[in-house]
Amino acid sequence: MDLGLKGKRALVCAASKGLGRGCAEALAAAGADLVINARGAEALLAAAEDIRQRYGVTVTPVAADIVSEDGRATVLEAAGPVDILVTNAGGPPPGLWSDWERADFIAALDANMLTPIALMKALLPGMIDRGWGRVVNITSQSVKAPIPVLGLSNSARAGLTGYVAGTARQVAPFGVTINNLLPGIHATDRADALDRGVAEADGISLEEARARRAATIPARRYGTPAEFGAACAFLCSTQAGFIVGQNILLDGGATNSVL
Ligand code: NAP
Repeated sequence: MDLGLKGKRALVCAASKGLGRGCAEALAAAGADLVINARGAEALLAAAEDIRQRYGVTVTPVAADIVSEDGRATVLEAAGPVDILVTNAGGPPPGLWSDWERADFIAALDANMLTPIALMKALLPGMIDRGWGRVVNITSQSVKAPIPVLGLSNSARAGLTGYVAGTARQVAPFGVTINNLLPGIHATDRADALDRGVAEADGISLEEARARRAATIPARRYGTPAEFGAACAFLCSTQAGFIVGQNILLDGGATNSVL
C-alpha cells in the first residue's frame, strides 16, 4: 500500500535502536525523509547511514538528549518544519512505590510526559499552518493496564495520555492527527534490561526470564521493532486521517480486556 508519505519530513526521537528505530525505518520505507535523534552519536550515525543506504531517503542524525531543554532546542533547530513527529525517550527504571521521591517523579514526568508535550507545542503550529500533520507518541501498555513495578512510567504516561486526549481534538480540525502507540513487550534493549532485573531478582537465567514472560503473552513471543514501526507508519499515512486521539495497544494480546 502506498502510504502517501513520499517526500514528507519526519522527526523520530530516540531512534538509533529499538522501537524508535523501527518507526524510523518504516517511515523511510514509505518514502519519508528523516531527522533521527539519540544521545549516543556512534549508534545514531550508523543507524542513519544504514537507513540511507537501504531506503534512499535523506536522513539527518542529531545527537542530543531529547529530554533536556538544550538538547530539544538543538533537535528542533536541525529539524525545521516537519510533517510527522514521533515522540520517544527511554523509560523510567522499575521499583517499589516506597522507593520513589519527588525527584524521581520529576525525572519521569520530564522524560515521558513533558518532553513529548514540549515537542508537540513546538511543531503543531507549523503542521496546522500547512493543513496536514501526524504525531505518534510511543507510550506503553501500562496506560491501559498499569504495571506495578513501573509506577514512575504509569504516572508519566497517564499524564501524557490525558493531554493528548484533549489536544488531539483541538488540532483535528486542521488536518493534524495525534495518536498514541502502546507497546507491550518488544524485543529491544529495554526489554533485555527489564528481563535482566527479573533474572537477578529470581535467581534465573536471562533466557528463562524471557521464556517465562513470553509464556504470559497469547502470541507466545515478543513483538518486533519492525511490526511496531509498520503500525506507526500507518498512523502517519494519508489513509489514517480519521484516526484521532486513539491509544492503540500492540501487545500480542497480553492485556486481557475488550476495549
Ligand atoms: P531502547 O531499546 O532502550 O531504545 C532506546 C532508544 O532511545 C535508543 O536509540 C536510545 O539511544 C534512545 N534514547 C533513550 N533516551 C534518550 C534521550 N533522553 N534522548 C534521546 N534519545 C534517547 O528502548 P525501547 O524498548 O525501544 O523503548 C522505547 C520506549 O518504549 C521507552 O520509553 C520504553 O519505556 C517504552 N516501552 C518499551 C517496551 C518494550 O517492550 N520495549 C514496552 C513498553 C514501553 P541513546 O541511549 O544513545 O540515547
